[in-house]
Amino acid sequence: PPLAPLAYGAAGIGLTGLFAVMVRMGLHRRMGGALFTTLQLLSACSLMLVTAAALPQIGVLLLLTLIIALATAALQMPLRHVLVVTGILAASSLALLLVHGDRFRLPLDDGWLRLFSGLWFAVILAKIVAINLIGAEMRKALSASNARLEAALAQVRELSERDELTGLQNRRSILAHLAEERARFSRGGLAFGVAILDIDHFKRVNDRHGHAMGDEVLRTFAKIVTDRLRSTDRMARYGGEEFLLLLTNSPDAASVQLAIERLRSAVDEHPWSDLAAGLKLTCSIGVTMSCAGEGVAEMLERADAALYRAKSEGRNTVRVG
Ligand code: GH3
Ligand code: MG
Ligand code: MG
Repeated sequence: PPLAPLAYGAAGIGLTGLFAVMVRMGLHRRMGGALFTTLQLLSACSLMLVTAAALPQIGVLLLLTLIIALATAALQMPLRHVLVVTGILAASSLALLLVHGDRFRLPLDDGWLRLFSGLWFAVILAKIVAINLIGAEMRKALSASNARLEAALAQVRELSERDELTGLQNRRSILAHLAEERARFSRGGLAFGVAILDIDHFKRVNDRHGHAMGDEVLRTFAKIVTDRLRSTDRMARYGGEEFLLLLTNSPDAASVQLAIERLRSAVDEHPWSDLAAGLKLTCSIGVTMSCAGEGVAEMLERADAALYRAKSEGRNTVRVG
């Protein structure tokens, strides 16, 4: 009947309009995307089932369209909804076929109807392309959000391992490296050295020149030392004005001490007064070498004890533990 396509088209456009208005009103957000999609699917399928009941002569085409509608919406629906809707659609289609099945047709009686059926089938095929496009969009969104997540993770990792003021490794990070180095040493790797550097009378720097200058002095101190390290050595900010050096692959204790002594004199000889008039800065250092069978804690205790001696024996000096 000529009125049938008009009624079907008007109902389809009406439903689409109704859902567009609901989206405008923000109902899809309040209701949740999954439920909204499910409602949209159920209303579209109801229209198709009612039309199939009224016009069983095109019933086969409408059932094919039903399958495509379900496949498209299922991409955005939770499994629970998909199962419920599939159950409803299966039961309704079954009932429909039981009642009107004998009149269900694919309209192929004349040339025009065959063209109509062929075009309807082509539209269904085109909708499979649409499903693929939706899937591709979802994959793209997923990989973009994965990339954002990875970048955020790298940033968090970087922040959790760095000291903000000096840009050096922080205590946690160097302790992890120290544990790795100790494990390597106990597996027969080369010996390594550890040094704790503590700036002398740093409190006075803050008191006389201000906290901001104190920060600048810490940054400069870090740079003076790191500029003189080998690429395999590591330096970390261990505490406020305390720094920890890890000198890997250092089988020769004497050369470690020599290198540390050079660092001490580089700090001593730096033109600190360029930074603030009358500023003078030195540091005390406790250094020690790895010993077989001991843990990181014992090694650090030894370095700390050596630093304590350096402090009590006049500062601006290196002591070996
Ligand atoms: P000593 O020679 O015995 O090591 O004396 P000191 O003054 O260096 O040591 P003390 O532990 O008494 O003081 C350390 C000072 O370092 C106190 C604290 O305010 C300062 N400090 C710690 N962290 C920071 C920082 O991030 N910025 C600045 N400007 N000062 C800091
Ligand atoms: Mg100090
Ligand atoms: Mg200190």
